[in-house]
Amino acid sequence: MPSYVIMEKCDGCKGQDKTACLHICPNDLMVLNKDTMKAYNRAPEMCWECYNCVKICPQQAMDVRGYADFVPMGASVVPLRGSEDIMWTVKFRNGSLKRFKFPIRTTPEGSAVPDGGWETASDDIKSPLLFTEPGSLGLSELSTIKK
Ligand code: SF4
Ligand code: SF4
Repeated sequence: MPSYVIMEKCDGCKGQDKTACLHICPNDLMVLNKDTMKAYNRAPEMCWECYNCVKICPQQAMDVRGYADFVPMGASVVPLRGSEDIMWTVKFRNGSLKRFKFPIRTTPEGSAVPDGGWETASDDIKSPLLFTEPGSLGLSELSTIKK
């Protein structure tokens, strides 16, 4: 089931230019209604149910009705993202709670190097090499078809 916004909780990311859910959605589905300052999923049928928006929302204002195989019928699963880990709270239909905490990074927040420290092998977009090749393969040169 696609994501949806719990309107009472959404604060429009406090009026920032780009809301967290808008920023993270790989399918560009989230939109902020500037009049109400509430976000919404503009094309639920296109939603991949990837949970990105649910995990990133600072207000826990996004939810996905999970499938019964991982969210038992009548239960809810709510993530709470921290800088080091993410806590999933499962609330079963009988009211009992279970919490699971998973680490989400191995480096301090803000320290990730976007290019991973690899030097660009070629800036030619038509190059058959990937960005980190040949170094990431442990090679000095990759065999390619010479023209
Ligand atoms: S990330 Fe959450 S609080 Fe921010 S606009 Fe989206 S639903 Fe609202
Ligand atoms: S669940 Fe994934 S695809 Fe669906 S709206 Fe959220 S971020 Fe986009």
